[in-house]
This record gives sequence, C-alpha cells and structure tokens, in this order.
Amino acid sequence: MAEPFYDEIEIEDMTYDATLQIYHYPCPCGDRFEISLADLRDGEDVGVCPSCSLMIRVVFEAEDLPKEKEEDKEEVVEGEQMEVAKEVAVAA
Ligand SMILES: [Zn+2]
Repeated sequence: MAEPFYDEIEIEDMTYDATLQIYHYPCPCGDRFEISLADLRDGEDVGVCPSCSLMIRVVFEAEDLPKEKEEDKEEVVEGEQMEVAKEVAVAA
C-alpha cells in the first residue's frame, strides 16, 4: 500500500502565514495542506489537509526557515563592532 502522499512540495512554493506561523499549500479538495513552523523546526516534513486524508512532503533545508530570535545575537555583534569603531576614531 502506498502512503497517501499527494506530492512533494518545495517550501518556496508554499505560502507562509506569519501570524499563525504555518506554511500552507492548496489541496485539490479545495482546502489546503498545513504544517507549522514549529513542526518544521522539529524535523517534521509532512503537511496534512484537515479536510481529506491527503498529505504532502515538504522539501526544505533548516536554513530556509525564518530565524527565531537570531536578530538579538546579531545586534549584540553589531554593537561590539561599533564600540571598536569608536575606539579607532578616538585613537586617530
Ligand atoms: Zn484536502
């Protein structure tokens, strides 16, 4: 018995809902396949349509996913670089 996979979908072809933090893709039944960002981060790659039994396999790389709280780290690094720039300016 084949599993009821409808298709394999590249994550770039799916629509991201930033409010609900889910990716969705149109299902032939008229509803849509859904998979949450949290599931993708956990390594899940199966999107399910709630209205029928079809599933899709989501093709993605971890680095394709939106970053989570990474911005904070980058801001700290930028701040340090600015401190260094100030010191150089003072020395010159
Ligand atoms: Zn469906």
